[in-house]
Amino acid sequence: MSAGMNVAQQEAVNYLHGPCLVLAGAGSGKTRVITHKIGRLIQTGMPPKKIAAITFTNKAATEMRERAKALIGREAKDVVICTFHALGVRMVREDGHRVGLKPQFSILDADDVTGILKDAGGSSDIATARTWQWTISKWKNMGLNAEQALAQAADDNERITAVIMSRYEERLTAYQSVDFDDLISLPLRLLRDHEEVRSKWQDVLGHVLVDEYQDTNATQYEVLKHLVGERARFTAVGDDDQSIYGWRGATLDNLKKLPIDFPQLKVIKLEQNYRSTSAILRAANNVIGPNPKLYPKTLFSELGEGEPVRVVDADNEEHEAERAVARIQGLRVNSQHQEFRHFAILYRANHQAKPFEKALRKAAIPYKVSGGTGFFDRAEIKDLCAWFRLWINNDDDPAFLRCITTPKRGIGHTTLGKLGEFATQYKLSLFESLFSASLASLLPAKAMDGLHEFGRYVTDLEYQARRTIGAEDSLAFMLQWLKDIDYEKHLYDGEDSEKVAAARWTNVLEFCDWMAARAGGQTDEDSGTTTIRETKSLLEVAQTIALLSSINQKEKDADVVTLSTLHASKGLEWPHVILAGVTEGMLPFKLDDDEGRQQVVSDDITQRLQEERRLMYVGITRAQRSLAVSWTRKKKKGREMVTAQPSRFIKEMALDAATAKEDPREKLRALRAEFAKKSQDNAAAAAASNALT
Ligand code: ATP
Ligand code: MG
Repeated sequence: MSAGMNVAQQEAVNYLHGPCLVLAGAGSGKTRVITHKIGRLIQTGMPPKKIAAITFTNKAATEMRERAKALIGREAKDVVICTFHALGVRMVREDGHRVGLKPQFSILDADDVTGILKDAGGSSDIATARTWQWTISKWKNMGLNAEQALAQAADDNERITAVIMSRYEERLTAYQSVDFDDLISLPLRLLRDHEEVRSKWQDVLGHVLVDEYQDTNATQYEVLKHLVGERARFTAVGDDDQSIYGWRGATLDNLKKLPIDFPQLKVIKLEQNYRSTSAILRAANNVIGPNPKLYPKTLFSELGEGEPVRVVDADNEEHEAERAVARIQGLRVNSQHQEFRHFAILYRANHQAKPFEKALRKAAIPYKVSGGTGFFDRAEIKDLCAWFRLWINNDDDPAFLRCITTPKRGIGHTTLGKLGEFATQYKLSLFESLFSASLASLLPAKAMDGLHEFGRYVTDLEYQARRTIGAEDSLAFMLQWLKDIDYEKHLYDGEDSEKVAAARWTNVLEFCDWMAARAGGQTDEDSGTTTIRETKSLLEVAQTIALLSSINQKEKDADVVTLSTLHASKGLEWPHVILAGVTEGMLPFKLDDDEGRQQVVSDDITQRLQEERRLMYVGITRAQRSLAVSWTRKKKKGREMVTAQPSRFIKEMALDAATAKEDPREKLRALRAEFAKKSQDNAAAAAASNALT
């Protein structure tokens, strides 16, 4: 198990019986320590299911599961590898009854929450509802309930929000639903207030490992503390320079607190970077240099100096995207065996993806957008998931409303309004209210018939889904159901463009196929080599997928260029990285107004600049062999285009003058690539464009 581990890494892997913190820079093998330590723990006799490795995103969990499987083999399957939120789901399912939640509670996504808040606050304005949402989420992350939030409210605005929060919480209880923040705060409440829950979980988990520890928030830290208890058998790995979730409540205090709360803490530092060339590492160190240090750290690489870091200047976003594509084509032509998956284009905000998507499509280069609107975030997929949610939990009111109106089934606004009033008055869910005899006196017979018909249909579907087992039957069932509700027509009616409607319908079919494959026993980690497959009922499959936010099996192994936000790129690596939009005012984000006046108080500005610097550091350190940093001479300001400057970070990277210039060879390479592309046969282009849709 010690192969490919340096002395410090081995020390961390072998330190099993107490609290351990691995504090080290990017690419120094922290995540690798976690996977190897899982192996070591199993080797010493710890049952895999008693080991929990907590990652920051679902994607990181999938990747770690794969790495663990490659290293340890089949036993890795039973290790609990998931996010804090997914662990929270499990805890609330098992013990939520203590706080009045049924095991089949629903998890609301951000859109559901906005909808409920609009209702609870009596506002039809999405922006207002989002502001409440943001504040309530912040309070929940600080561990405050509505009452406590009201007590500490600083002004009228906060007082109003706290009152709305209490109404919002009432609704969630009535709907048997939780939001994302509850998946952390409820486990904390359970662990803190219920001795038997605490000792149960401390017994269930023999060792807890946490990746990206610097981005945990205060509540997550409390959960961790309660989970590990006095024995404190845990391993946290992190890098203070990569803390980029301050805006979501992550706090470096958690790093500072560890040695105080656990005086026996073993701290291990790693210094060798195994990911990037020296040129890339130097640029990273130069950018992070000005930030205050939590501890001194030196990172070195033995991968050689490598290609100089390139600065690319472009006229505007479109030009920037074209140059990025030219670079990708150039590098591929130059070193024949480069696959598309070796390239990533990273930027700060989701909306920046668009010009790159267009340029890549034009060049017939397949790509995926990660950290943006994924397959499962599309409206049509959410529509179908709402039906699953309703089968699983009839009391899920947001799902109920979505299903009864999508597609429209002649049940009008007035009827639904009456139904809602009735449900609120009697503290019932909408579904429960349907069949109440007293509702009948409030509504005309025709409306009642419509409601009853819908209720019976949902119950009937649920009954059938429970009995539909395996791939073939599941697919047939879903296609029949979509036909019954006339969903295809609904899509075409709702779209002006037939092409868009057709694409949405294709998504629906693809989704049904994917669901059916799961009912046939195929799992997300399945490489297709497993011989015995356990078939499942469609309802079981619906139960798991209604929870998952974004997995797209199709994307997983595809040879595609990655487009990603910097935040979503954390922990990952690619041979070639293009950092786009490194323009002053974009990265770092605008810190002053147009007259140069600071927008926020100077303390805030210092902290924000520090976080921006960390974001840039994260971006640079994703690159293994080559890095290009691009900026635009014009940037959007409202509807206008204004002159822009390169980011201060570019200067700070202190690249050699020679490397900062445009390389004329790039044009030549791009031309060559263009030529190669033109002579490609159409089949290749068609295959690539298939992969795109
Ligand atoms: P980040 O801070 O970005 O999350 P990290 O510290 O978690 O980075 P890893 O992703 O674990 O770093 O490792 C970076 C790369 O270096 C990986 O490709 C990993 O396989 C490789 N690596 C780590 N340790 C070693 C080692 N001792 N020998 C060879 N390769 C290593
Ligand atoms: Mg890592």
